[in-house]
Amino acid sequence: MIKTRFAPSPTGYLHIGGLRTALYNYLYAKQNGGVFALRIEDTDQKREVAGAVESLILTLQKMGLDWDEGPMMDKDLNLTEKGQNGPYLQSKRLKIYQEYAQKLIDSKNAYFCDCTPERLDKLRQEQEAQKLAPRYDGHCRDKAPISKLQFPDKPYVIRLRVPENREVVFNDLIRGEVKFKTSEIDDQVLIKSDGFPTYHLANVVDDHLMAVTHVIRGEEWLSSTPKHILLYEAFGWTLPQFSHLPLLLNPDKSKLSKRQGDVAVEDYLAKGYLPEALINYVALLGWHPSDDQEIFSLNELVKSFDLCKVQKAGAVFDVNKLNWFNCYYIKQLPEDELLKRCAEFLPNVDKDKLLKILKVEKDRLNNLSEIGEKVKMFLELPDYDGKILIFKKSTKETTVTGLKLALAVLENVPENEWQKENLNQILSKVVTENSLTNGDVFWPVRVAVSGAEKSPSPEEIMDVLGKEESLARIKTAIDRLNK
Ligand code: GLU
Repeated sequence: MIKTRFAPSPTGYLHIGGLRTALYNYLYAKQNGGVFALRIEDTDQKREVAGAVESLILTLQKMGLDWDEGPMMDKDLNLTEKGQNGPYLQSKRLKIYQEYAQKLIDSKNAYFCDCTPERLDKLRQEQEAQKLAPRYDGHCRDKAPISKLQFPDKPYVIRLRVPENREVVFNDLIRGEVKFKTSEIDDQVLIKSDGFPTYHLANVVDDHLMAVTHVIRGEEWLSSTPKHILLYEAFGWTLPQFSHLPLLLNPDKSKLSKRQGDVAVEDYLAKGYLPEALINYVALLGWHPSDDQEIFSLNELVKSFDLCKVQKAGAVFDVNKLNWFNCYYIKQLPEDELLKRCAEFLPNVDKDKLLKILKVEKDRLNNLSEIGEKVKMFLELPDYDGKILIFKKSTKETTVTGLKLALAVLENVPENEWQKENLNQILSKVVTENSLTNGDVFWPVRVAVSGAEKSPSPEEIMDVLGKEESLARIKTAIDRLNK
């Protein structure tokens, strides 16, 4: 039975890269009829952020990546969990790690170390002065085992005894054969002086106890893998299959960072990016189908995704491309669904009016929260500079003429014929019958009703505004020009 897991540390938000890792784990498990688990790696007390676990889980739930095992938030927003291998929060498993650390002590694969921070600092400084990579010097390796009873006041850690002069070799599904020399691996701390495990110990113990068969994670963990392999060996456990996903990069090829834009999935959701667009886009960060298909639903991804075809090179996260996907998915949403999702951003706008506005604006939305901006001109005429009413190839006189002629004909349009197709024909007639240009009629009418230099077409806006408001706005424009 194939089993994957997503094992985030609750840092306060779900990184876009984390979403991709979760997705690839989900896809691999689902396409193989396997199990996808969620485990929260919250053993770093220093980095704990209040509420981070809950919000991480909620965000993952919103993204629709249903896991078979792991912690969840129920309807009343209480933390629960499902599955036979819990608890799934590492902070609830401390005893287990201590027990397994003791096994490593007993088998001499780990040792107690009571070096003081001062000694370790000094060691680091000496190594730096000699331009050596900082690492533990094995000072406590051969000391007799200590226990808390013997040294009640002395803090200690437990370290992995990394074998000397060996090569750790493994086959990564994405990277192929990867080799590390043990001479480059530090005697890693496994249990910290506060009794908490480090990532390495907790991660390996849990992957084994939770029967994880495939470890799919970001490239930043590649250098941890030999340490993990040494731990598996020390315990006598079978190795999982490792796959390390390529880094996500900014467009300038630096590592994707907050400084160059949003990296938190929560921020994208808050701006009105659709989960389906985010999923589709991140799926393609490092993997491409053999043909040119770009649009994939989650189910289609389950069918098409191929872990072995994930690239090694870093993948550029391009928010413009994400916008393209988001626009696509916004256009695909059924009207009532779009209305529902936009209404979350505009709780105070009349639903019928919003629906009309959405008909005009939906193809231009990069995200749902933009509707907040787009809606403004429909609700109230923005203050604008009268000069923008005059098209660059027109004059004030022809503009006033155009507006007055348009107003005169529009006044005679019956309410029930006030629709964009009609309105377009009427404005066209004003142009042709009076030997005017589009710049004398369509341009100023559009600016008059939108109050903006750029906007949808005049007929679309007038259709939403209705006759009375449209005529009032055109009159206002004429007054401005006549001033
Ligand atoms: N807790 C690690 C993280 O935050 C998990 C790495 C792994 O999947 O092994 O990414």
